[in-house]
Amino acid sequence: MKNLIVAKFGGTSVATFEAMSRCAEIISNEPNIRVVCVSAQSGVTNRLVRLTKADVTLDERAQLISEIKEIEYAIVDALGRPEWVCLALNNLLNELTAVANSENLVGSMQLKDQIQSYGEQMSSLLFAEVMRQKSVHAVNFDIRQVLKTDDNYGKAQPNIEQTRLQAEKLIAPELEATVFITQGFIGSDDQGQTTTLGRGGSDYSAALIAEALHAQTLQIWTDVTGIYTTDPRLTQAARPIPEISFDEAAEMATFGAKILHPATLIPAVRSGVGVFVGSSREPDVGGTWILNKVENKPPYRAIALRQDQTLVTLKSPNMLLASGFLAKVFAILAEYKISIDLVTTSEISVALTIDSPTNSTVTGLNQVVLDKLAEFCEVKVEEGLSLVAVIGNHLQANSGVGGKLLTALENFNLRMICQGASAHNFCFLTRAQDAGKVVEHLHEALFDAI
Ligand code: ASP
Ligand code: MG
Repeated sequence: MKNLIVAKFGGTSVATFEAMSRCAEIISNEPNIRVVCVSAQSGVTNRLVRLTKADVTLDERAQLISEIKEIEYAIVDALGRPEWVCLALNNLLNELTAVANSENLVGSMQLKDQIQSYGEQMSSLLFAEVMRQKSVHAVNFDIRQVLKTDDNYGKAQPNIEQTRLQAEKLIAPELEATVFITQGFIGSDDQGQTTTLGRGGSDYSAALIAEALHAQTLQIWTDVTGIYTTDPRLTQAARPIPEISFDEAAEMATFGAKILHPATLIPAVRSGVGVFVGSSREPDVGGTWILNKVENKPPYRAIALRQDQTLVTLKSPNMLLASGFLAKVFAILAEYKISIDLVTTSEISVALTIDSPTNSTVTGLNQVVLDKLAEFCEVKVEEGLSLVAVIGNHLQANSGVGGKLLTALENFNLRMICQGASAHNFCFLTRAQDAGKVVEHLHEALFDAI
């Protein structure tokens, strides 16, 4: 379909019947939105994840399930309890309860993914009914038939080619006549088992579907009116960015701006789909366009902050004139799937930062890795740090960038400074307790003076 728009609505956008109705309004007003990808209602996935933990007691389990039921039933009630919707919802809730009670759950990554998938399944079921009650020809479509992945449960990787083939076969022919309401976050492997793409993965799902269907635009509807120069909770001076390039937005997502799942832009870049981010509460306020080519490329675009960073300093007297030290360090980290963010080196030491699993689905540092590293170097681990990233353009080629940033921060202790690898960022670590102030000062120096 020409001019196809794939729209994704996040957990807060579909949290209640009223919220869903606002989203339905957006869809009714834009006839090119033919595929809608929904998240679970806000708070549902957190509860589902909790259900998969080894230490949940029977009481807590019952409590969690009853809270989930309450969230879903509040919406079904507002819909007037249509019989077949109640039936379908009860089926999902019964399945969910059965898996939650299964003895195998704790040891099975597959069952954990299955349990997490019910949030999106219930959400799309109810959202499709909201659309139908608005006289839109909408179907609740099981995306697991289309979004094919490997079996890396918890963080499955999509199979782009199979996803494209399935989308062309099952969705494309019906697009003119039907609005597809479908689930973000979930997919299925070769065996047909349910998989998930990792927390926050609905954005990524929507981007993959947009790519598979050669959509013109991907709309991400959330609870903020687009991307801001920094998190508005950090400084009131934060202001919306009307247009930003894929490169800059990818840096922002990577460095902690929690607007988009970091992988979302990969399919968008591959297929050149323009991405719009806006608030489903205030669709008329506008939002941010993320595009391949933007007219304005300012040196400073935004400041991102990521908390809970670990700084590891590895010191080896043998590094002096020796080769292979870094290779050895990185081999160990790679073996344990620990991904590194910033790196600086001196003659006999290397410092690197590691993200916390609370921020994303990365693997955290653990004692086994530290012991392995300690076999050939001195290891120092520091916690309580935050990573600040200034995102912009040509940062490596403009004079005065370093001077400007460091002058603005002269009263703060910066633990590590990294610049040069990318034209789009300038990063450093600071003490967690200073992070808010650091962002505020920087924002003032970089944006308020303009
Ligand atoms: N429901 C999933 C989560 O909370 C996926 C998403 O909302 O993007 O992580
Ligand atoms: Mg999200």
